Amino acid sequence: MSLESDRTIRRYQSSTGVTVYKLPVEAFPSHFTNCYLVLDDCVTLIDAASGWADANEHLRARFDELQASFGEKIRLRDIKRLLITHGHIDHFGGVNFLLKESQATLGIHELDVSVLQNFKERLILSTKNLHLYLDRTGFSAERVKSLLEMNKWSKDWFQATPVNLTLREGPLDGSSFYVHHVPGHCPGEVCLQLHDLLFTGDHVLHRTTPNQSPEFITRYTGLGHYLDSLKKIGAVAGVRVGLGGHERDIADVPARAEAIRQFHEERLARALEICRAPKSLADVSRELFGKQSGYHVLLAILETGAHVEYLYERGHLVVANMDKVEQEYNPVLLYQAR
Ligand SMILES: [Zn+2]
Ligand SMILES: [Zn+2]
Repeated sequence: MSLESDRTIRRYQSSTGVTVYKLPVEAFPSHFTNCYLVLDDCVTLIDAASGWADANEHLRARFDELQASFGEKIRLRDIKRLLITHGHIDHFGGVNFLLKESQATLGIHELDVSVLQNFKERLILSTKNLHLYLDRTGFSAERVKSLLEMNKWSKDWFQATPVNLTLREGPLDGSSFYVHHVPGHCPGEVCLQLHDLLFTGDHVLHRTTPNQSPEFITRYTGLGHYLDSLKKIGAVAGVRVGLGGHERDIADVPARAEAIRQFHEERLARALEICRAPKSLADVSRELFGKQSGYHVLLAILETGAHVEYLYERGHLVVANMDKVEQEYNPVLLYQAR
């Protein structure tokens, strides 16, 4: 995601005259998350970056730059509302830092509330599902163990925190925002519309196709939800520009949503082609993405799993080793095109 990072603070004005600043923050080394400061009646910050010490200081420094470059005398303590686009740590990790600096109300979609309030529990439970899932992929026990460790690196790092504003589809009370719920990349992903500006979080990005994972592991993720949400956001009227959670602005949101949809159609076709002979998920992942290392192995198997799950659920793939599946607790599944 870092390749096309936009590191420059930018100023926007909505069609009704609300000033917005884009604040790219280095959430992790070379990984920038865009936070957006919305100077409406209620000063709102969209997304909090990662909460790493350097990221927190970078966010503070960006506020200093606002004063130096744009003459805005706004401080962290002036934030009244903190809205999180989705429950991924590069977007919400900084909430504890910001809640110490300000008295802000904290809002996130109802399907991601528990990620903030019961952080450890959610992570442990999804890691259980991931374990069951990885055991079916054909990876060695050793590899599964190391991927599970990677998945829960943040377990003791983020302090769970109460949410006091639950976002749901529709207008957000007492604000000019409209909440579009767009599950898929994350269960509680939202795009926030402010007149002709659309904050797209990680749902639609300028260049990257957001990572997918199977709904088997976490409800409301999965490619089916994601493609429905792309269609939904592509049809929203009156959007002049999309402001993504990473990278550059999206000049034409419907066109970008359509390009991402086509990208996934092609990947689905490739996965189906690979499965002309029976294949494990590990086989399919290797053929789709080549040899990967470290965290990228996990991203690749999840992306693969999302596509295979989509094809299986729609009857395009069958399980080729049903005898074994019927007899054993959780064997490797072999998928084959029908
Ligand atoms: Zn994300
Ligand atoms: Zn992100």
